[in-house]
Amino acid sequence: MCEYKFRNGDICQEEALQNSKYCILHIDLPEDKKSEEFKRINELKEEKVKEKISKGDFNFEGAKLLVVDFNGLSVKGDVNFINAVIAYVSFAEAKIGVCALFEGAEIDWVWFWGVKISGTVRFIGAKIGHVYFNYATIGGNARFEEAEIRGMVGFERAEIKKKLIFKNTKFRIPMAQEEACRKAKIICENLGNRADVDYYFYREMEARRKQKNPIIRFLELPVQYIFGYGVHPWRVIATWLLTVFSLAFVYWLGNGVEAADSLVEYIYFSVVTVATPGYGGYHPKPGIYQGLASFEAIFGTFMWAAFIATFARKYMR
Ligand SMILES: [Zn+2]
Repeated sequence: MCEYKFRNGDICQEEALQNSKYCILHIDLPEDKKSEEFKRINELKEEKVKEKISKGDFNFEGAKLLVVDFNGLSVKGDVNFINAVIAYVSFAEAKIGVCALFEGAEIDWVWFWGVKISGTVRFIGAKIGHVYFNYATIGGNARFEEAEIRGMVGFERAEIKKKLIFKNTKFRIPMAQEEACRKAKIICENLGNRADVDYYFYREMEARRKQKNPIIRFLELPVQYIFGYGVHPWRVIATWLLTVFSLAFVYWLGNGVEAADSLVEYIYFSVVTVATPGYGGYHPKPGIYQGLASFEAIFGTFMWAAFIATFARKYMR
């Protein structure tokens, strides 16, 4: 018997191949793609796939296949490719009655152009190359959490009734991240889910930054990490506080403020400078400390504006 263990703990019921622990579906394809052995094994796999389809059996969990061509096919229940390893999977114009399950699968090409899926699509934790869902209709969620997408994505004209989820999804190509997160953002906007709109907006902007030339990409880093593209007001506050205390410490170390003695007085000086009320009383010593204090004053005004902008965006719409 084949020793492949399914996710639910069951063991595969197929006959194992000679000199192997696995059945024809679960055995690895030979490494050398040009060899006779590869051809022979692949033909046997294709026969097995056809045999299963003719019986209406779409459980391909853990299967190792070269090509799965289900174009135009009509499936009553789920199609299960959980943990499968496949070079090319095509469901173009196919109809899937319930769910398309691809959790943990490794697939180089996912071609779902014009597919109709009544239930959810799950690529959670999958490792995939290119993904195309253009013109697809999906009745439930399309979930790609924790997945790794190495290639391009296409969701043009795709109609997803519930959510398109790319939480913690890794993209190798920034353009793919931009496209995926933009589509997910638009769907969340229509659902009125603001927290998720912010999440995808941030990731979309991050992807756009990564597509710019190296100098601008670098200069925009603080815009992403400190201002969080207006999505994270608490990051602005944290940066502000960190700067106020660090500068207070620098003034204190260099004894850079006249009339100030204790660290508390230095912190007071730093706060008064960053908030720019200019009470007097303490004066930075000429040279570097005046320069630092000027910087702090400008920084403070700028951060105040940034804080109001991000805070308003987050809480006042
Ligand atoms: Zn098996």
